[in-house]
Amino acid sequence: MKKVALATAAVLAAVFVFLLATLPPRPAAIPLDSVDPDLRSRTVRGAYHVHTVRSDGAGSKAEVAAAAARAGLTFAIFTDHGDGTQSPDPPTYSSGVLCLDGVEISTNGGHYVTIDASPSPYPLGGEPSLVVEDVRRLGGFGIAAHPDHPGSELAWRDWDAPFDGIEWLNADAEWRDERPARVARALFDYFVRPAPALASVFDRPIATLERWDTLEKRRSVVALAAVDAHGGARARIEGTPAFGIGPSYEASFRSLSNRVIVERPLTGNAAQDARLLIDAVKAGRVYSVVDAISPDAVLALSDERGFELASALPGGAQVFTFTRGNRRRLELHAAAAPGAPPVPWVVSNWAGPRHAEPPAEPPAPVTGEVVPLPVGSAWRIEKDPLSSGRISAAGDVGALEFKLRADARASQFVAAVSDLKGIPGVRRILFRGRGTRPMRVSVQLRFSPDGARWTKAVYLEPAEQEIAVDVASMVPAESGNRTMPDLSTAQSILFIVDLVNARPGDSGGFTVSALRAVR
Ligand SMILES: [Zn+2]
Ligand SMILES: [Zn+2]
Repeated sequence: MKKVALATAAVLAAVFVFLLATLPPRPAAIPLDSVDPDLRSRTVRGAYHVHTVRSDGAGSKAEVAAAAARAGLTFAIFTDHGDGTQSPDPPTYSSGVLCLDGVEISTNGGHYVTIDASPSPYPLGGEPSLVVEDVRRLGGFGIAAHPDHPGSELAWRDWDAPFDGIEWLNADAEWRDERPARVARALFDYFVRPAPALASVFDRPIATLERWDTLEKRRSVVALAAVDAHGGARARIEGTPAFGIGPSYEASFRSLSNRVIVERPLTGNAAQDARLLIDAVKAGRVYSVVDAISPDAVLALSDERGFELASALPGGAQVFTFTRGNRRRLELHAAAAPGAPPVPWVVSNWAGPRHAEPPAEPPAPVTGEVVPLPVGSAWRIEKDPLSSGRISAAGDVGALEFKLRADARASQFVAAVSDLKGIPGVRRILFRGRGTRPMRVSVQLRFSPDGARWTKAVYLEPAEQEIAVDVASMVPAESGNRTMPDLSTAQSILFIVDLVNARPGDSGGFTVSALRAVR
């Protein structure tokens, strides 16, 4: 018996020694004395995409800021889940770390992170391209979140939408495609060498980097590395109600960071420093470093030469330059980088003469015959039992006043409905619309015989506007990939307010007039 115990202990000891001998390497230290002090004073290091107890994170903002300070960071961009209606906290310094508030919004096409946006007058959600449009209207900068996330609900999927930024790497998505044995090994390593263990499951996100490079042919998109940190034990995991245990904030912050090159050194005035930082991020004056490989990389940035290496290159590391026309970006690859294929150690943004802002797309000219939409009935109301609505119609003007039932979410909706006798050949629906305040109203077609609905949300504001809804741009109101039924079976048109872009208890009104169809 004693012999067996001894043998077991010996095997365990051998395994333990083997595991310790094969830990991921410590971050390499590279001397930075030769780096221009002005450049160093204008290069600020921080974490982007951080959750707190305000959504599904484990720590308060103050606790997270303290962890960021321990990891040597200067700023942290908080991105708790939300619908964009709440006022962000003003920028503050906590533990010497500049704390900025953003929001992570759930759309039908994945998560979208916004920074620097004014609070929205209505909840943001629904079609991803419309959320991108709303964030732009609110003055915000929007980032397509974790395109590589294997959770298809969460990963950004709309590559045609004019988003401003992209997460080229997301630490919370990277481990999910690894084999269980690899994750188990990383778990052991985590207790000995936390940040290198987290980075040990990173790979080169091939598809996302290729998408980013392809977008660069048409327009500039800023790439950031996301820690997507939730910290320690937390009540639920993003997208599920399950309890989760994640890496500590500090370990996440030591695994990767973004380096922003600001115009002048930060002064300690939170509002002014936040402005400097956000302006630099928007301009793409930012690069990411996998600090777990080595935090000691510094890039310089000039108009003429773009990003350049300004620190020493460790043995075996290589510099790669990618070019698109006269724009360039850099990658530094380290000899001992984890992953298959290996994750780049440093990724710069694209630099050089910026693309001219693509001209605002003029609405496609209306060709074809414009006729009144052949509605077969007067306006009426449809709604859930406890919400209320009142309709008044005069001539071709229909006005709806609504109040969605307050308290819990229970598919509240109020709609103004008119019957159709089919609209064969109609390519576009035109109308004049205004809301009592900024709001989104869904224009829907309902088809017989099964009542399937196709929808497109439009933005209304107090000033009346001409609105065009291309029938081809409408999407199914219920999830699922289907083709639109024959337009000759279109049975009703609905103008509907529901919980996609309104909250329980919301009230207001909108007016629709001059309904026309383009054939
Ligand atoms: Zn997310
Ligand atoms: Zn997140």
